[in-house]
Amino acid sequence: MSPRNTYDVAVVGAGMVGAALALTLACEGFDVAVVEPRAPAPWRVEDEVDLRVVALAPSSAQLFGRLDVWKSIVAARACAYRRMRVWDALAPGKLDFDAADNGAAALGWIVENRLIQHVLWQALQNDGRIALHCPAKVVATETSADRRTLALDDGASVSARLVVAADGADSALRSMAGIATRDRDYAQRAIVAHVATERANESTAWQRFLPGGTLAFLPLADGRSSIVWSVPNAEAERLLTLDDARFCAELGAAFDFRLGTITATTPRAAFPLRMRVAERYLAPRLALIGDAAHVVHPLAGQGVNLGLRDVAELAAVLIAARSVKRDFAAESTLRQFERRRRSDNALSAHSFDAIQRVFASAAIPMAGLRGAALAVVDRIAPLKRLFADHAAGR
Ligand SMILES: Cc1cc2nc3c(=O)[nH]c(=O)nc-3n(C[C@H](O)[C@H](O)[C@H](O)COP(=O)(O)OP(=O)(O)OC[C@H]3O[C@@H](n4cnc5c(N)ncnc54)[C@H](O)[C@@H]3O)c2cc1C
Repeated sequence: MSPRNTYDVAVVGAGMVGAALALTLACEGFDVAVVEPRAPAPWRVEDEVDLRVVALAPSSAQLFGRLDVWKSIVAARACAYRRMRVWDALAPGKLDFDAADNGAAALGWIVENRLIQHVLWQALQNDGRIALHCPAKVVATETSADRRTLALDDGASVSARLVVAADGADSALRSMAGIATRDRDYAQRAIVAHVATERANESTAWQRFLPGGTLAFLPLADGRSSIVWSVPNAEAERLLTLDDARFCAELGAAFDFRLGTITATTPRAAFPLRMRVAERYLAPRLALIGDAAHVVHPLAGQGVNLGLRDVAELAAVLIAARSVKRDFAAESTLRQFERRRRSDNALSAHSFDAIQRVFASAAIPMAGLRGAALAVVDRIAPLKRLFADHAAGR
């Protein structure tokens, strides 16, 4: 579609969350514009597996299925994980989940961020109902009674009945709309790498709580694992400067050699960790979704899954309002979205924060508590099902 300038909805930011919303709304017959500063780097099967991967919950896979992109993602490269093993370095408790316990084929899938972004971007480009403004950035915004207008850095302007900010953790649009955030800097970094182990990954996602942080091993389709090792900043500095042999030895010990020794690693990268929650999700003719609204600790692998649940909820609210001929971007309509999603996202952000605090402590009374907590959840079937359902997005 060639760019014009008035739309039903303008989505700012075409990361995984913004792109999914634009496609969902276009499928439902809304006029959609997308503003994105950078097209994602193309994904090619012959390239090394992207260092950034996400654990996608079944609810996210279902959403991608409805957008007709899930088949392409799975056909390209995705690894289903059927089991999850959680245990603690300081206490004997453990938590085991098995897809077979619920009659499911998988608990979730590990997929490269770049692959998801590439497939969604292709779908955006091929969707004749979506106007793509790329490369372009929003430099100013103003509202009138029934629309919001965005001034772009290429001189164009886009006006829509609803603008959705999906421009990530440092959302410029959120700042322009005067929405404050509450932040907590964990003073930790997540080290990521792909590693080969003596034994293949057993289609299992592993998570070990360590004094001062967490270590996840997520299965890749080629038998290796993608690690996310969250450690205090100074420790991250140290681990990043180790040579590969020393790093593999320390990683193997931190993982309790569950898959034998670590035999090889890719280069490592590190990401600073913080919690950031927007104080509100709405401004006149504007809604926040995804990391623009909430950034959570990655220990539960839920960030993008929460963002995709925002997509499903916002789309449902807009579609319902339009079907009864109400203004779909009226504040009363958007409040329903905010009420439902803000409570779920805040609960998740604060639960991960609490888990992080308890398990980051090496104090002896805490160690007792953490072991007992894992053991209790593992033994009480309804409680365990609750955890599994939440992780699956049900
Ligand atoms: C180490 C680590 C591991 C993680 N593991 C998991 C996991 O296993 N499972 C999970 O669910 N989540 C995980 N996450 C979280 C997940 O990566 C994020 O929640 C997710 O990427 C957020 O997607 P988004 O589309 O909201 O934002 P982003 O991916 O940040 O996308 C924002 C988009 O907006 C664009 N943009 C930026 N500025 C502007 C602007 N001014 N105007 C227009 N567009 C703009 C950007 O170019 C980008 O395309 C992890 C995070 C980390 C750090």
